[in-house]
Amino acid sequence: MKKPVIYIDMDNILNKFWVPYIQYYNKLFNRNTTLDPSIMKEYCLSVCLGLEHGSIEEKQLDEATMCSWKFWTDDMPPYEEAPEVLERMCQNYDVYILSTPYVEYTNCIPAKMEWMEKHFPFFPKKNMIFTWHKELLMGDFLIDDKPENLIGFKGNVATIAYPYNRLDGVYRGKDWYELEKYINTKIASDNEEEFLKKYESIL
Ligand SMILES: [Mg+2]
Repeated sequence: MKKPVIYIDMDNILNKFWVPYIQYYNKLFNRNTTLDPSIMKEYCLSVCLGLEHGSIEEKQLDEATMCSWKFWTDDMPPYEEAPEVLERMCQNYDVYILSTPYVEYTNCIPAKMEWMEKHFPFFPKKNMIFTWHKELLMGDFLIDDKPENLIGFKGNVATIAYPYNRLDGVYRGKDWYELEKYINTKIASDNEEEFLKKYESIL
């Protein structure tokens, strides 16, 4: 039987992107600002920090963070429970990483692959998809934090809960344990529904 296909985003889903981001920001601008997920009302973290889109400061911060190998590989913490949950999910489903690399930094893709090898060594590299067009992918589930991606996907969607991704009809878990429970339950009930439809059509 074909396994359900699940796509998993990386930034702010497998990792806690905001943690090194605010550290680099403080170092670059000599500040002592804290950034907690509960105050992240905008998807774009530079905007959460009060920087204007396209400003020199935002560009400097992008260069210091998203154009840095160390930022992606050494300083990026995963959600603590994510490796354990992802390993279980890989046994039951066809799991793919679906990540949008930072467009201005071509080394972002190998850096993200190295980070996966470091924290998720069991995960097959050939199941990593990098794209700027997630809406083109077909599958059963997308786990992503970005509102546009959640809206654009044609299957089931779920996310880690952040203030910026409150959307009707989207399940928002506080951690990977909650996501795992939701995904397992939803897939089981979808399978049951499909089975009943087939059964009814035979009768
Ligand atoms: Mg993300």
